[in-house]
Amino acid sequence: MFTSSDHANEETRGCVSMAAMIASEKKRAEILDGKVVADAIKREVADKVRQLKDMAGIQPTLAAVLVGDNPASAVYVRNKVRACEEVGIASRKIALADSISTHELLEVVTELNRDDEVDAILVQLPLPKQIDDSPIIEAIDPLKDVDAFHPTNVGLLAMGKPKFVPCTPAGILELLDRHKVEIAGANTCVVGRSQIVGRPVASLLLQRHATVTICHSKTRDLPSVTRQADILVAAIGRPAFIRREFIKPGATVIDVGVNRLTDANQARDFFGAEADKRIAAITEKGYTLVGDVHPAEADLVAGKRTPVPGGVGLLTVAMLMKNTLQAATQRRGLRTED
Ligand code: NAP
Repeated sequence: MFTSSDHANEETRGCVSMAAMIASEKKRAEILDGKVVADAIKREVADKVRQLKDMAGIQPTLAAVLVGDNPASAVYVRNKVRACEEVGIASRKIALADSISTHELLEVVTELNRDDEVDAILVQLPLPKQIDDSPIIEAIDPLKDVDAFHPTNVGLLAMGKPKFVPCTPAGILELLDRHKVEIAGANTCVVGRSQIVGRPVASLLLQRHATVTICHSKTRDLPSVTRQADILVAAIGRPAFIRREFIKPGATVIDVGVNRLTDANQARDFFGAEADKRIAAITEKGYTLVGDVHPAEADLVAGKRTPVPGGVGLLTVAMLMKNTLQAATQRRGLRTED
């Protein structure tokens, strides 16, 4: 009789043979290291923060509002506060109870808008269910809106005249530029149309003279569309969704996704030569991170790809530092020397 554990064994054998197949093929993708680029950006910001202090006695200040006890949000805010320390920006973490109302949170934002010492405000998303995001985002002073989610900043970006560029999309462009990936004239495809990643990335690529296609959950025959792209950006939120047949040989693949993976068999399938290390992480912490791109398969087809972790996520934090410095100078009509 064929039992469910036989099914599991079959599946495991399937994974192993697929992993073995992948291991036997030649890996070709160059890894676009996010840490090198993020560190370079943070060093540049730190220099300018020092200049600002020396020249004008000003230390930029970021207020980070964390509502509730979402563990991922807590990690993101902790990383942002830590990055502030690294570059010499002052930070205030404002931790609020999960039960706070929209009205109470609006009062906190209004107070931060009024506070002249605060240059930059971020409200970590997602917010608890009872809170309506839109009025909160719309209440943030656009001049302090370093996430660039306020409709004024969204509109300015769409017009090609941004004051602030949202951190993740800005980080993706920095990553491409500093790794000398040609954007002008390239066929680019963005999978995902969210306000925080897909749409603004598409706007930025268009401003840089790329030909841009935006895909989403209703796109027909997605692989045939994504396979046209010289630069493919995946911002979907589905683990290892982009497989080899989605990728044009030699393309640059930017993986924005951050997904927690808890299944060791899937880790064996996704991570090729890195699988043992990832399975050890699952055993130790209960999970490992995987992006929206199947890393082992992308390695066989792509010319370049970003890793997860160690790719776009690090750039997001570095660009937040850059935006905070910009908020501090812009608000006062100052400039720092390049
Ligand atoms: P989101 O708001 O959930 O949007 C996901 C997008 O993917 C939607 O536009 C959706 O299409 C599309 N999609 C879903 N399933 C699809 C499918 N089967 N085929 C084609 N398109 C599909 O997500 P997000 O906020 O943009 O985030 C995306 C991922 O990036 C997540 O993993 C998130 O954690 C990660 N992220 C990382 C960073 C970073 O710093 N590294 C920053 C932000 C987000 P529809 O519009 O049709 O529903």
